[in-house]
Amino acid sequence: MIRQKIVAGNWKMNGSKESIVSLVSGLLKMKDSNSEVVIAPSFPYLSQVCDLVDASSLVLAAQNISHEVKGAYTGEVSASMLGDFGVKYVLLGHSERRSIYGETDAIVASKVKTALEFRLTPMLCIGETLEERQSNQTLAVCERQLQAVIALVGIESFEKMVVAYEPVWAIGTGLSASAEQAQEVHESIRAFLAKSSESVSQKVQILYGGSVKASTSSALFQMPDVDGALVGGASLDAEEFIAIIKAAG
Ligand code: PEP
Repeated sequence: MIRQKIVAGNWKMNGSKESIVSLVSGLLKMKDSNSEVVIAPSFPYLSQVCDLVDASSLVLAAQNISHEVKGAYTGEVSASMLGDFGVKYVLLGHSERRSIYGETDAIVASKVKTALEFRLTPMLCIGETLEERQSNQTLAVCERQLQAVIALVGIESFEKMVVAYEPVWAIGTGLSASAEQAQEVHESIRAFLAKSSESVSQKVQILYGGSVKASTSSALFQMPDVDGALVGGASLDAEEFIAIIKAAG
């Protein structure tokens, strides 16, 4: 099964009107790639970036949504609003949302359900902490996080989703998992999904995230179950991000 690679940049809570113009214009100089290239700005800049990427192949993602559809939820952003800005993907279950903002497996699953209802493609982030890895809980944690979503929306919905394996110990630490470590977990994630549906497991794109840099990305992309990358820090530098996109082929 040939799965198109995705290289997604998560800008987190970074950027200004000015810096975003220069970052996006840097990215627009890149030649078309065989991979799908996605960028996830903070909410206030979605409209600006939507205009800047218009008519290019760059694809927009949001970093979060409310699990509620609309109404009295001060400070929240709904899935339907994102449709107005040409957003295709939404990051859900990012470890920073889980650990800093207390998003449980159940909350993440309900956000996935809402995203799907509004035709957004969830990029479902899963992954273990260092402590969990050291106590051999890596797969148990990933399976628990996946199972909460399967139980709510069903395995068939994974055809309309992307999974991002992001070991928490590798996010923003400079400590990337090796290509072999990533492959081992990606293969197990696919095998776990295959228990519910072999065909879905073959189709779903599984991205690796955690301190991906241009220098480490080619080895990662050669792994058979690594279908791309979710990139944080390195996606804020157009040259570095383009080098990662080139490595994806
Ligand atoms: C992320 O935010 O999803 C991420 C992987 O960050 P970084 O690349 O900075 O580790």
